[in-house]
Amino acid sequence: MLKRTIYDEEHEMFRRTVRKWAEAEVFPHAEEWREAGCVSREVWKKAGEQGFLCMYADEKYGGLGLDDFRYDMILAEEINPKEPGFFIGLHNRIVGPYLHKMGTEDQKARYMPGIVSGEIVLAIAMTEPGTGSDLGGVKTRAVEMDDHWVLNGSKTYISNGILAGLVIVAARTGDGHEIGLFLVEDGMEGFSRGRRLKKMGLQSQDTAELFFDNVKVPKTNVLGDPRRGFKSMMMNLAEERIMGALGFMARAEHAFGLTMEYIMDRRAFGRPIGTFQNSRFKMASMRTELDAGWALTDHLVREHLKGELSAEMAAEAKLFTSEVEGRVVDECVQLHGGAGYMDEYEISRLYSDARISRIYAGTSEIMREIIGRGLGLDERGRN
Ligand SMILES: Cc1cc2nc3c(=O)[nH]c(=O)nc-3n(C[C@H](O)[C@H](O)[C@H](O)COP(=O)(O)OP(=O)(O)OC[C@H]3O[C@@H](n4cnc5c(N)ncnc54)[C@H](O)[C@@H]3O)c2cc1C
Repeated sequence: MLKRTIYDEEHEMFRRTVRKWAEAEVFPHAEEWREAGCVSREVWKKAGEQGFLCMYADEKYGGLGLDDFRYDMILAEEINPKEPGFFIGLHNRIVGPYLHKMGTEDQKARYMPGIVSGEIVLAIAMTEPGTGSDLGGVKTRAVEMDDHWVLNGSKTYISNGILAGLVIVAARTGDGHEIGLFLVEDGMEGFSRGRRLKKMGLQSQDTAELFFDNVKVPKTNVLGDPRRGFKSMMMNLAEERIMGALGFMARAEHAFGLTMEYIMDRRAFGRPIGTFQNSRFKMASMRTELDAGWALTDHLVREHLKGELSAEMAAEAKLFTSEVEGRVVDECVQLHGGAGYMDEYEISRLYSDARISRIYAGTSEIMREIIGRGLGLDERGRN
């Protein structure tokens, strides 16, 4: 088994704190949140009280001024496998960085304190009913007026869509890839939410539709250049994908651990099923894939810490780890036999939760496109 060396003692101390906290404040509510289709608002505030939200934020906004991606990895590793619908990673490492890196002083002063305390939950709305992979095809439109923009359109499959107090909305401001990013607040006139979408997995995640009907967005709520948001989205997607990869690995690792226990406990033909050669070989293959996945992600996190993570490498991590997760949970269900199909067994949930990993944050096909184009294999041929 691979010995991971990405963390030092301080990280491991933090892990112990997170584990204790999650065991007290998160996991006991998992069933209730699944039923509700949404985690509670309180858990966000409690995470804020612990200092777990956007640690990189400036101290003047209540943050710790601590920009070390590994603390967010630990949150993902500890929380994600047992409560995959609490999207703390989306808040911290997918949406938060947009404000942290691109926000004006005024925007940060208005929003960062609430984002850090958990009063404001974050979401990002790119996908629309008519377009997902092809982000350049966004139809939600923003039209410039004197001191504001008017937003019209709709978004779908938006994570944290029900609880979000602030949504970064991608909207067309011109032709081609001219897209702006707009900070839309809960309560703005014309902004409404549709139903909480029922899904195959991630039952406690509040995925929703969002609607914008002549929403007046003040110019002070435009994030960055209103015509160059597409580029910002592409840049931030690399961090989103490595963050995703860690969650996939953590869930796959958890599935493996559960299965190790199960196959040593369960007996057939007078012996633990784990002692059949088939089980041994399956577990060995999975262990190898998991170790390869951790080696790749940890290596890329090191690149990321140096500011050198490329879009292609982030795509490789997302592609590989999501596919490893898919294969591992499938084999683990098989090794559980009928129990693996029963909702009361964690493995059955890990299986249905895993299916989305190959789809969101860019599908496996889009990852292959990014990697392949990086090899020079696009329509124009090799340079
Ligand atoms: C649970 C969940 C949470 C989500 N959260 C968010 C969120 O918070 N914010 C947000 O903006 N979006 C979110 N999404 C949307 C998600 O990112 C998109 O669903 C995803 O990018 C795929 O887009 P699509 O659904 O439009 O599929 P499509 O783009 O219609 O793709 C359909 C199929 O065609 C394939 N395909 C498309 N283009 C190509 C190509 N060029 N070459 C080869 N194959 C191709 C795809 O790989 C896929 O297999 C979420 C989705 C889900 C299900």
